[in-house]
Formats: sequence, C-alpha cells, structure tokens
Amino acid sequence: MPSSYPGQAPVGVDTTRASVARVYDAALNGKDNFQIDRDVLDQVRTVAPGVCELAWANRDFLTRACRFLAKEARIDQYLDLGSGLPTAENTHQVVQRAHPDAQVIYVDNDPMVLAHARALLGDNDRTLVVEADIFRPFDVMTNRVVRQELDLSRPVAVFQVGTLQHYLGDDVATMMKTYIAALPAGSYVVISHFFDPETPEHGKLAHQMEQKFLKSPMGSGRFRTRREIQAMFGDLEMVEPGLVLCDDWWPDGPRFAPLSDVRNCIACGIGRKR
Ligand code: SAM
Repeated sequence: MPSSYPGQAPVGVDTTRASVARVYDAALNGKDNFQIDRDVLDQVRTVAPGVCELAWANRDFLTRACRFLAKEARIDQYLDLGSGLPTAENTHQVVQRAHPDAQVIYVDNDPMVLAHARALLGDNDRTLVVEADIFRPFDVMTNRVVRQELDLSRPVAVFQVGTLQHYLGDDVATMMKTYIAALPAGSYVVISHFFDPETPEHGKLAHQMEQKFLKSPMGSGRFRTRREIQAMFGDLEMVEPGLVLCDDWWPDGPRFAPLSDVRNCIACGIGRKR
C-alpha cells in the first residue's frame, strides 16, 4: 500500500478545496488528506461526535459484500465506481483472494485517487483504473477500457458504495437505471448510502449531518430516505436481508452493544438482475 504524508499531494491536486476521497480517507484514519478535509469532519462533529463511524460502517460493508460476491455468487468481474484512496482490504485484494483471475476495474475522478491507485496496482493486469465521472453512466459503460476488459455477456458486480450521496440531483434512480440496463442477467448492483431513517430518534441527526456536510468545504452528502434509496435498485431482486443499515447486512458475528446513533444513518443493499 502506498503511503504519503499530509501535504504531499500528487501534481494536479487542489489542496485548498476538500475532496470526497480525502475526507473519507481522514475518517478512516488514513494519511492522504489535508487540513481542509479534516475541517469537514470537525464541522460535522459539532452535531455528530461519532461521524467517522459512517465511514467505518460503510467500509466494513464493502468488505463483506466483496466476500459474498466472490465466494457465494462466484462473480469474477467487478466495476467499482468511486473506488476511493487505497486503504486496507481494497476490492481487488478481497475478491482476488477467492478468484485470483477476477477482473476489477476501478473508476474515479479524483487525481489523488488515480495517482495512488496506479502506483499500488503497478503491473497487476487483472486490476485497472479508469478516470471517468461515475454519474455519467453512458460514458462509463462505453469507456474503451471498460468495453475491452469486461465481458458484458457474463454477470458483473457494479459497486456504488459510498458514492451516490455525493450526487445532489433528484434523478439518481434514473441514472442507476442506465447502469442496470447495460448489465447482463445474473449481475449484481451494490449500493450504500447516507440514510435518513425518518424516525424521531435519528431523523433529526441525519438532517443535521446533511446540513453540515452540504455547507462544509466538501459541499455534498445527502441523507436519503428508504424509498429514495430503494428506488436506486430499480426492479432488481434484493439479496436477503434487503435494504438495511450497513451494520445489519450479514454482520461478522453477534452484537454485544446497541448501534451508535450515527450507525443508524447509513444503509445498504445488494440487488440481482434476473
Ligand atoms: N467506494 C469506496 C468505499 O466505499 O470505501 C470509496 C468511497 S468514497 C466516500 C467516494 C469516492 O467516490 C471518492 O473516491 C470520490 O473521488 C469518488 N467520486 C465522487 N464523485 C465522483 C464522480 N462524479 N466521478 C468519479 N468518482 C467520484
């Protein structure tokens, strides 16, 4: 895993603006972030002291989803949209343990993510990085590398993990429809998303965190409702247990303590195309 120190930015990185990838890295205790990124978390911390747990719940779900897809669903082609800065247990490492020949394509548009991913991947010819806007599905699905490397006559797993909350428009379900339409039967779509549970206990917290994220130097982070997130799966068949809190998607073991308030504000699911 490449490492760098705060302040050592690859050429092309704007260190005066927060970036989604670097804020997430800071929340996961990574080193590839700047003061402006940590400021975002400090601002949200004023209403949610445990804000970083959003990132941990999300990342742990991603790892479990990768294990499920590689071992149980036997998927060997992955399109990881908004892959993020390399950290422990990246998608290709988890799925290639089960399937050494699994093909993984990472897509991101953050210059720091692209630089680190290219350095990490070196000559791993089963894992490639593509620069594209993941909110433009047509561009992604017609990208030369994506077309060349993925066999779209066989099932693919597409990830939108921790990404769609950064799309501010109200047409997310329509965007996801375009991705889903391009996939063959037997494919899987994995989504995790900041969640407004609309309950008296946690709805207010979700709303407060959303306001802080939107007004922060990152400027994005919508907390959508169950209905809004479920719509992103279109008519896919949901894998059990359906759309649930990230911590409730096949946890690794029994839970001895109740979930923290923040962990009630991030949800996920996996859908399968019939
Ligand atoms: N998927 C990883 C995970 O769950 O651990 C990383 C999630 S991180 C919160 C979101 C990632 O999406 C960042 O790396 C960011 O650069 C990327 N991203 C956000 N908007 C994007 C866009 N329009 N096009 C490409 N990547 C984008």
